[in-house]
Amino acid sequence: MTAHRILLLGPPGAGKGTQAKRLSDEYDLDHITTGDALRQNKDMETEYGTPGEFMDAGELVPDPVVNEIVVAALEDADGFVLDGYPRNLEQAEFLSDETDLDHAVFFDVPEDVLIERLTGRRVCDECGANYHVKFDQPEEESVCDECGGELIQREDDTEETARERLRVYRENTEPVVEHYREAGDLSEVSGEGTPDEVFEHVRDVIEN
Ligand code: ADP
Ligand code: ADP
Ligand code: ZN
Repeated sequence: MTAHRILLLGPPGAGKGTQAKRLSDEYDLDHITTGDALRQNKDMETEYGTPGEFMDAGELVPDPVVNEIVVAALEDADGFVLDGYPRNLEQAEFLSDETDLDHAVFFDVPEDVLIERLTGRRVCDECGANYHVKFDQPEEESVCDECGGELIQREDDTEETARERLRVYRENTEPVVEHYREAGDLSEVSGEGTPDEVFEHVRDVIEN
């Protein structure tokens, strides 16, 4: 059997990163996440400016920068779980020229829940693991369970920037969700409930 090629879709805070980590562990897949890749290259000079200038404002980083990251990651991957890309129709078209997908999964979460998840999110400065001050606390405060790194708040997880990111999502990324839905290729699961409960739904999708 060939390795799974999985796409996760959903608004900021829906739990894509959390579920991608579980999927990559369970099925031995590469976790391809443009958000983490961009955070590691926030200050890189490009002809459009640095990625950080867009990210801190909650806007999309220009397509050529992001597409290049995805091409390089796909080249190295056998099976993968892709999280945070595509975020607009142009990226979706680019992706379909690069690879086929076995599963596209959409996480449905109401907007008030998203804001609470985003503003309470903490991430590991070293390995990128996600935590939440209320919903997913580390064993030791501010210390990553996985690697011992320090947990920090992302600069774009303020309420104001989170709201802007949700606006950008509705404008640019909802059409992508609609595109997969119309093609009949989308599995929709509730992103509410505990991370374990959500993972059970995702596993059902992948295995059936
Ligand atoms: P995304 O990658 O879609 O932006 P994350 O996986 O980073 O979302 O999750 C956003 C925040 O919500 C994180 O702080 C994470 O710990 C928390 N979270 C993720 N899944 C759940 C869940 N099912 N219930 C409650 N909190 C969750
Ligand atoms: P979240 O997990 O909250 O959805 P990400 O970590 O995926 O956030 O993305 C953080 C920021 O990185 C985005 O707000 C955007 O500025 C940039 N970014 C990530 N992926 C993309 C993409 N596919 N296209 C354009 N910008 C992106
Ligand atoms: Zn860590």
